[in-house]
Amino acid sequence: MKYSRPRGTRDFLPEEMAARRSVEQRMRRVFVRFGYAEVATPTFEHLELITAKSGEEIVAHLYHFKDKGGRDLALRPELTAPVMRLYVNELQSSPKPLRLYYFGNCFRYERPQAGRYREFWQAGVELIGSSSPEAQAEVIALAKAVLDELGLRNYELHVGSVGVLRKFLEERGIAEGEQCRIMGIIDKGDEEQLEEELLKLGLSEEDRSAIAGVLELKGERSAVVSRAEELLAGREAALNELRELEGILDALESFGVREYTLNLGIARGLDYYTGMVFEIYASKLGAEKQICGGGSYSLAETFGGKPVATSGFAFGFDRIMLALEKDGVELGGEEGAKIMVIPFGEEYLDRAIEISALLRRSVACELEVMRRKVKKALSYASSKGIDYVVLVGEETERGRVLLKDMRSGEQREVDIEELERELAG
Ligand code: AMP
Repeated sequence: MKYSRPRGTRDFLPEEMAARRSVEQRMRRVFVRFGYAEVATPTFEHLELITAKSGEEIVAHLYHFKDKGGRDLALRPELTAPVMRLYVNELQSSPKPLRLYYFGNCFRYERPQAGRYREFWQAGVELIGSSSPEAQAEVIALAKAVLDELGLRNYELHVGSVGVLRKFLEERGIAEGEQCRIMGIIDKGDEEQLEEELLKLGLSEEDRSAIAGVLELKGERSAVVSRAEELLAGREAALNELRELEGILDALESFGVREYTLNLGIARGLDYYTGMVFEIYASKLGAEKQICGGGSYSLAETFGGKPVATSGFAFGFDRIMLALEKDGVELGGEEGAKIMVIPFGEEYLDRAIEISALLRRSVACELEVMRRKVKKALSYASSKGIDYVVLVGEETERGRVLLKDMRSGEQREVDIEELERELAG
């Protein structure tokens, strides 16, 4: 009987895996170049860690279970909460700022579709300990630097602030919990429900239309800012947040990031964002086109730590792979050996093993282990795209082997001593 994969999961064959690893390596290099160090956390966490700030609603989208000791656990749906738990437990007294990056699989019980899986990979960073405009701008600039390094061309960066609206609501005496709920409704894009909820909270017609107006603002910086200033006139706390955002945008321009859309309608699904937020969309991806989401948040205190300003983002790695493919970017990656060592019969097998061990000090090579005749082994090598074959036979008695170039078909005798240098070159 054959077994199928669980719904929403994928197998990755060698070619795809090689491309994924190569993209992953390049992403890591950019994180490191910006001074970020890698951390890793467990695949599962206490359920409470996940629900603490993301709300009970998230449970419907979790893989959660009781272990044999009766503990409620969940497979991680993202990595920001686990990394902040790690920070609170292990790193609170470290010099600030802390720059951490991660790369790991996440699990969400969602309806699978193109670009949406039940197991997927996220790569992201957290910059912990600074609320300066330049720290917040740095994470945006880093996300862009990664995409540029990968050669992605068709993407759009949208920067906004959930702080503007949160402060607006706060000024009207609306508590944080309610603010989060409102942000959730905005994130879902349900305008009717939003209007209803705001009405229930007792917001005036004028306030409601100011909120709806701000949420629609999207475009070039100066036009959006001047319209927002009109809509928010007299609401000082919200206006201050807008000025904060402008400070971040100034810094962003110093980082060389000038192409973006100022979008005050971004709400972000998770409850912990406090101020700046940003999203990146790969224009060619269709419905699931968001490849990155991030912003500034306050989460340490939720996990029993001292409050600390943090900014970060998460890339949806699988969607980045899809976007690169759609953009026609050559992905490449190392995919096994390009050299093969074949003995002329069993009596030369030991010598062939020794020679392959010698070669592996500097190059990748595979050994013939099927005891095939040379002709058969060569046709396997050719079907696998092997570049060079080392034939081990009677010449070894003179310290030599036959080196066959599979593309030209040319074959010549080479000193075993010379072989490694020839093949490494
Ligand atoms: P979030 O933690 O929801 O902000 O997600 C961060 C990024 O992860 C998103 O921008 C997506 O690119 C990616 N992502 C989220 N959910 C999924 C999923 N089910 N399958 C694939 N990628 C996802």
